[in-house]
Amino acid sequence: MMQVFMPLGFLGFVYREMKGSMANIEKMFGLLAVAPTVQDKPKASQLNAHDGSVTFNNVSFRYQAQRPILTGLSFTAKPMQKVALVGASGAGKSTISKLLLRFYDVDSGSVEIDGQDIRDVSQYSLRKAIGVVPQDTVLFNNTILENVRYGRLDATDAEVMAALKIAHLEEFVKTLPDGLATKVGERGLKLSGGEKQRVAIARAVLKRPKIMVFDEATSSLDSRSEQSILAALADVSQRQTTLVIAHRLSTIVDADQILVIGEGQIIEQGDHHSLLERDGAYTKLWRFQQNHSVDPI
Ligand code: ATP
Repeated sequence: MMQVFMPLGFLGFVYREMKGSMANIEKMFGLLAVAPTVQDKPKASQLNAHDGSVTFNNVSFRYQAQRPILTGLSFTAKPMQKVALVGASGAGKSTISKLLLRFYDVDSGSVEIDGQDIRDVSQYSLRKAIGVVPQDTVLFNNTILENVRYGRLDATDAEVMAALKIAHLEEFVKTLPDGLATKVGERGLKLSGGEKQRVAIARAVLKRPKIMVFDEATSSLDSRSEQSILAALADVSQRQTTLVIAHRLSTIVDADQILVIGEGQIIEQGDHHSLLERDGAYTKLWRFQQNHSVDPI
């Protein structure tokens, strides 16, 4: 078992994550899969994410010595903005979100939230400020109510209901045989990919983070499912700063900023209309996706 080799301090962190109303199990799996290379400073302060601005300041990063992934990448997501990361597979979009969550430290440059370098704050306070909607959501053999409540264990039923509404799951729940008490997951009702991702959105909303990272599913969803997710995402992104790792450009036409990532850098930046006017890399991707149902990125 991998856990056997984990330092006790790291396991302690994982335990606190579970206990401290942050039981986002996907994130736990993510953490366990990543070597604990990152340590809190001895007197790390608590992140004070008052507004939710995110700045990547000249960030360079490589997983392996010979292979730079990001080289001198800079951008700022202002509070409440929706910022989309697009680019070819392997361009480094997920790496940007992993650096924001500090699963790894940057090699040079800095990542800041509301002006605080994330290396100076505790990992606990950092990850408390960020909600993650992963591509693939793990559902537990439990009711839909409890599955959503994993986002914040002390949430009331009313708060869970409000999160379901924002995630556009309310109508869906009404169609279930036992409503919120319906068992889902392995031995319960199987939810579609789109429904599962909306459960993840509801979980993340319940956490009330200042910053949300939404990793769009690569697998194609039927258009109704996709529309529901889009509507949910539009609601969510009005409430906090949202970083979307996008695969379908149609889902991010309303983003405040679109960052086209290529060769470890931002090769184009702007909103949908300004990028189309540039007639560059984004326009090529856009035209390709308009003409093909297959996803090139
Ligand atoms: P996709 O759209 O396919 O998800 P992406 O743009 O999100 O791609 P990343 O997942 O950030 O790309 O990966 C960027 C590069 O870093 C890829 O070449 C990938 O193989 C490499 N990479 C990712 N994780 C690791 C790791 N843990 N160790 C070594 N290399 C890695």
